[in-house]
Amino acid sequence: MSATAALYDTYARAPLRFERGEGVWLIDEEGNRYLDFAAGVAVNSLGHAHPHLVEALKAQAEKVWHLSNLYDVPGQESLSRRLCAVTFADKVFFANSGAEALECAIKTARRYHFAKGHPGKFHIITFEGAFHGRTLATIAAGGQAKYLEGFGPKAPGFYQVPFGDMAALRAAITEETAALLIEPLQGEGGIRLVSKEFLQEMRALCDEFGLLLIFDEVQCGVGRTGKLFAHEWAGVTPDIMAVAKGIGGGFPLGACLATAEAASGMVAGTHGSTYGGNPLAMAVGNAVLDVVLADGFLEHVRDVALVFRQGLASLKDRFPDIIEDIRGDGLMLGIKAKVPNGELLKAIRAEKLLGVLAGDNVLRLLPPLITTAEEAREGLHRIERACEALSQPARLQASA
Ligand code: PLP
Repeated sequence: MSATAALYDTYARAPLRFERGEGVWLIDEEGNRYLDFAAGVAVNSLGHAHPHLVEALKAQAEKVWHLSNLYDVPGQESLSRRLCAVTFADKVFFANSGAEALECAIKTARRYHFAKGHPGKFHIITFEGAFHGRTLATIAAGGQAKYLEGFGPKAPGFYQVPFGDMAALRAAITEETAALLIEPLQGEGGIRLVSKEFLQEMRALCDEFGLLLIFDEVQCGVGRTGKLFAHEWAGVTPDIMAVAKGIGGGFPLGACLATAEAASGMVAGTHGSTYGGNPLAMAVGNAVLDVVLADGFLEHVRDVALVFRQGLASLKDRFPDIIEDIRGDGLMLGIKAKVPNGELLKAIRAEKLLGVLAGDNVLRLLPPLITTAEEAREGLHRIERACEALSQPARLQASA
């Protein structure tokens, strides 16, 4: 029996067995050190075993692990207030994952219109290529056939329009539309950046038709693009936002943020979660914010991102047979490959660098936000060697 035979076969796992992590490094059972630019798919925002996070988790673990939401939970008040102080939001609901944060966002939007006397206004318009999670509602929101197949009828009320198509978006709005939902920087779909103008027009459209604007910043939020949240680059704010991944730095934590108006339908009894806002998660979430909000941290992300992006751009020039394009923003970058992206991933793993596949034949690079310029350059050297190994002239030379 193989080691994973008793697990669901839902994941195609790579044969890598990591034992521990240190900053941007993951160390396998044989002691091999891998540069982790996958960062648990943008979760390990502060790398592995960050001392401030470890300390916060240990200190809380010695006090109380779990209370339920029957009582005030230590850390919920401070984390919610801190998140509201630095965003558009007035209210926060804590969950445990991205999909749960999205479920809360969707329910908040629907309930808003219900409470205003419009129960028929429950449709949510999303974009092709989007990814919002794997629950029944969020696979309907993402609308991708490969995730919907075999799970019964698609949950009603979700409609997709082509990515970046403003005319199609406007045409899709009906009397039943409640909200528009978008990732300001699409992750799984292939690191596709939405223009500032598009987000601004979405905001204007929502104001014109009385709709709620929902941003999914599960992957692109919490400093990843060099601002605390990616939508800040566009100078617009949503009514509701789903956050997860980086906010917990590796501890399961999600949050739905909303304006007081947008959250006005979510009265006592309308939503809940056993674990949401658990004291351990709150301790870690607060510790993540301590670091990300510290003076100069986001500036550091922007500086390192520039080094990494420029390096990737020059690799694109040197290896036009391997790299078609460099996409994304901040430390959420994608190499649109000319070779199958799986081959590129294999080649960088051979150089002991970790990345993640994405749609549209893209290889995602999501270095921890604590990555130094030197570590970014080390990553670039490894990508360079991987490209050399895959490149046409190198292959021809080898076979000559
Ligand atoms: N939304 C986005 C943009 C994501 O990237 C993800 C996960 O990759 C999710 C939602 C779902 O998050 P989770 O897997 O924590 O449910």
